[in-house]
Amino acid sequence: MADEPINQMVNPDQERLPHPPEYHVMVLVVDDQAMVCEAVRRALANQTDIDFHYCADAREALAIANQIKPTVILQDLVMPGVDGLTLVKQFRSNPATKDTPIIVLSTNENPQVKGHAFALGANDYLVKLPDKIELIARIRYHSMAYLNLLQRDAAYRALRESQQQLIESNAALISLNQRLEEATLAKSQFLANMSHEIRTPMNGVVGMTGLLLDTELTDEQRDYVESTRTSADALLTIINDILDFSKIESGKLELDHHPFELHACIEEVMDLLASKAAEKNLDLAYLVDDAIPKILVSDVTRLRQILVNLIGNAVKFTNQGEVVIEVTSSGRTVRSIPFGHEHDTEFLRHPDEWLLHISVRDTGIGIPLDRQSRLFKSFQQVDASTTRHYGGTGLGLAICKRLAELLGGKIWVESDAGKGSTFHFTITARAPASSKPPAWQNPQPQLAGKRLLVIEDNATNRRIITQRGENWGMTVETAANGRDALALLAQGDLFDAVILDLELPDKDGLALAEEIRKQPAGRYAPLLLLSSRHPSGDGARPLPASVSVSIHKPIHPAQLLDAMCRALSVHVQREKKLPVAPTLDADLARRLPLRLLLADDNPINQKVGLTVLNKLGYHADIANNGLEVLKALERKAYDILFLDVQMPEMDGLEAARQICQRWPAGKRPCIIAMTGNALMGDREKCLKAGMDDYISKPVRIGDLQSALQRWGPVKTRKPDTAFVTRPKSTSADNLLDQSTIAELRKMPPSNGISMLQELVDLFLEAAPQRIAQISQSINDGPMLAFHAHALKSMGLNLGVKRVVQLSQKLEELGRARNVHGAPALLQELETAFTQTKAQLLTLRNQ
Ligand code: ADP
Repeated sequence: MADEPINQMVNPDQERLPHPPEYHVMVLVVDDQAMVCEAVRRALANQTDIDFHYCADAREALAIANQIKPTVILQDLVMPGVDGLTLVKQFRSNPATKDTPIIVLSTNENPQVKGHAFALGANDYLVKLPDKIELIARIRYHSMAYLNLLQRDAAYRALRESQQQLIESNAALISLNQRLEEATLAKSQFLANMSHEIRTPMNGVVGMTGLLLDTELTDEQRDYVESTRTSADALLTIINDILDFSKIESGKLELDHHPFELHACIEEVMDLLASKAAEKNLDLAYLVDDAIPKILVSDVTRLRQILVNLIGNAVKFTNQGEVVIEVTSSGRTVRSIPFGHEHDTEFLRHPDEWLLHISVRDTGIGIPLDRQSRLFKSFQQVDASTTRHYGGTGLGLAICKRLAELLGGKIWVESDAGKGSTFHFTITARAPASSKPPAWQNPQPQLAGKRLLVIEDNATNRRIITQRGENWGMTVETAANGRDALALLAQGDLFDAVILDLELPDKDGLALAEEIRKQPAGRYAPLLLLSSRHPSGDGARPLPASVSVSIHKPIHPAQLLDAMCRALSVHVQREKKLPVAPTLDADLARRLPLRLLLADDNPINQKVGLTVLNKLGYHADIANNGLEVLKALERKAYDILFLDVQMPEMDGLEAARQICQRWPAGKRPCIIAMTGNALMGDREKCLKAGMDDYISKPVRIGDLQSALQRWGPVKTRKPDTAFVTRPKSTSADNLLDQSTIAELRKMPPSNGISMLQELVDLFLEAAPQRIAQISQSINDGPMLAFHAHALKSMGLNLGVKRVVQLSQKLEELGRARNVHGAPALLQELETAFTQTKAQLLTLRNQ
C-alpha cells in the first residue's frame, strides 16, 4: 500500500490532472539498534501522513528501499557488516534511490565524517537521538523536496512525451496534407480527363444530330432527331452535374444570369420527363401564377437543373397519380439602384426583384419524417433498399440545395410516408418593371362565349383547362368520367368544343369519342383528345376521324390555345418568335476566305468538324496530333487553326507553345482551342500557352461560325481594304425602295403566291451566285462589269436600292478597268446584301 502514492505521482496521466497528487511520506530507517528505531517510531506515531519502515540489517537495506520506495532514508553510519558511508554510496548508485534524500544518523558531531557523508551524496546529518520536532520537520522537508523533484521529472517526461507526440502528429499531418493535395490534384485531373473522355463521344452525338437537323427531314424524322439531341443535351447536363458538384464543393461554381422565359424552361423540363411519366401512367401538369412576368433574369441552366432533379425524382418515386409543378410569387420588390449602377442599362431594364416559390408535388411513396433531415446531404439516400430499387447517386438533392441557395433561395420538403412528397424551393429573379404577357394569358375575343366541356379524371388538369378557358372568355363545364359526360350531353346542352382525356377510369377515350358523336348534342362539336406523350409516339394509335386535334400532356397553355383555335377554325393570335437555332451562313467562306487546319485525334470529331466547316463553305486540312500540326504549318500557311487540347504524341498546349516560339505573331495562324475540358482555369491554360480563343466541346455549329466571324477578318484584312470603315447599320429605307415594294404588294397573286414573295425568292436564290462571280472577277474589269450589271438589273425589279447602287459603282469601275477600289466596294456590297436579305425575309413572311 505504501508505494501507491509515489506511483501515482510518476504516472503521466495523473500528471495532467488539474490537482496536485496527495502529499505522502515514507520513511525508511536503517539502523542495527532497535532502540533508535523505537525512538523514531514514537516520534512519528501521531503523524498520519508519514509511513515508517525499519530495516535492522544494512545488507538488506537496498532491496527493501527498491521495494517500498521511501521518500526519505534515515541511516546509521556505524553498523555491523556494512560501512554506513559505503551504504550511502550504494544508495546513490542504485537507480531507484539515486535521488532519495538520505539523512545520516551519527552518535556525535564530527565535521570530517559529515563532510565525507555529504561528499558521497547524503543530504542531511543528525546526531542521535534527534529532537522529535526537528526530526519531523527534516523528514517533511526532504520528502517534500524529493516528491517535488519526482513530480517535476514526471511533468518534464510528460511534456517531452507530448512534444514528441506533437512532432509525430505534425509530421503525419504534413504527409496527410501532401497526400490530400496529391489526391485533390489527381481528382481534378481525373475530372478533367473524364470530362474529356465523355465529351469526346458526346461531341460526335451532338455534332452529328446538329448536322442531321440541317438536312431535309420528314416531320417524324425531325422529331426523332430532336429527341436525340434533347437526350444528348440531358446527358451532357448529367456530366456537368458531376463536375458541378465538385465545383460547388470547392466554391468555384459561377452563375450565368440571362433573360429567359419561365414557361419555356418548365415546359422543356416536363417534355424531357414526359415519356417516363407516360410509361407509368402518371399525369404531369404545371401551373404558373399569371402575375409572374413572362421573362425573368436568373441562371436558367441552374434553375433547369433543380427542376430536372426534383421532377425526375417525383416521377421516379411515384407509381400512380400525378406530379404537379406550381410556381407562385412569394414577394416582389423594386430594387433601389446601387451606387455606380446609375447608367447600367441591364440593371435599369430589370429593376424588379421577384421571390419565386416553386413546388413539385407528387403522389408517390413519400419520405418518413425521421429520414427527411438526411435528404439534402451529399451521397445520402433515404434507405438502401430504395436505392437498390430505384437507383441513383444521392447527389441530386445536395446539388439542388446548394443551387437554390446560390440562386438566392432555399429548399425544403413536406412529405407523408405513403402519401407523397412536395419539394419546395425559392429563388430570386429580376424582371422588367412591366412586361407584355404572352398571348395566351390574354382574353381571346375569337373564343369568347364558346361553351367547352372538359372530360378529364385528373383534377389538376381540369383546374388548369377550366382556368385557361375561362380567362379566354369561354364557359367551361367539367366531367370527371365518361358516364357524367354522357349524362351532361344527354340533357341536350350544346357545346362548341369537347376536350376529352384518352385514359379515363371508366371508359376508353376513343370509345367515348364515338359515343359522343352518336349524341345529338355532340354530333358536330369538335373533339380535342388529351393524351400522354408515349415514347413510341402517337403513331401507335391512329386518331379516328371523330377527333379534330390532339393535345399532349403536360398541357402547355400556348399549345392548348393553338389547338382550341384550330379545332374551332378561328384565328390564332400568335406571338412572333425569334429564330431559335442559329442559321448556317453557307456564304461565309466566300465572303471570308480562310485557310483552315483542324487538329483532332478523334476521327468522329474530325468528321463533325469537317462537315460543319463544309456547310459554311470551307475546306479544312486535318492533323491528328501536335506534331502533325507543326509539320503542316512548315509546309503551308494557315489562317486559323482549330486545335484539340488532349492529343497523343504532342498535345494542343505544347503545340501552341511551339508554334508561338517558331512563328511571329503576324506569321502564324490564329489558334482556337477546342476542348472537352470544361473545368475552371482551362481557358486560362489555353490562352497562357499562346492560343487566341477557346470553344468548348461539344462544338456547336453556331460556336464555330462565330469563331470564324470573330477571327476571320483579323486574318483577311488586307492593306487596300484597311481604310474601309465599319458599315453603319442601315435602316430599311436606305436598303429598299419602299414605293417599289408597295407596288409589288398590290399586284394580284398567281397560284396563291404573291408577286413580292415570288420576286424575293428569286432574288435571294440568284444574288449570292452573282456576288460570288463578282468576287472571282474582282481583278478582271470587263467580267466584273458584266456580273455587276446582271446583279443591278435583278435588284432593280425588286427595289433593293443599296445593292443596286453598289453594283452600279462596281459596274462603272469594271468598265473603266479601274479595279483598284473594287475589293472595298465588294465588302460593302456583301454587307448590304446580308442586311437586305434580312429585310426581305421579314417582308416575305408578313
Ligand atoms: P438520387 O440522385 O440518388 O435520386 P437525390 O439526392 O435526388 O438522389 O435523392 C435522395 C433520396 O431522396 C432518394 O434516393 C430517395 O430515397 C429520396 N427522394 C427524393 N425525392 C423523393 C420523392 N419525390 N419521393 C420519395 N423519395 C424521394
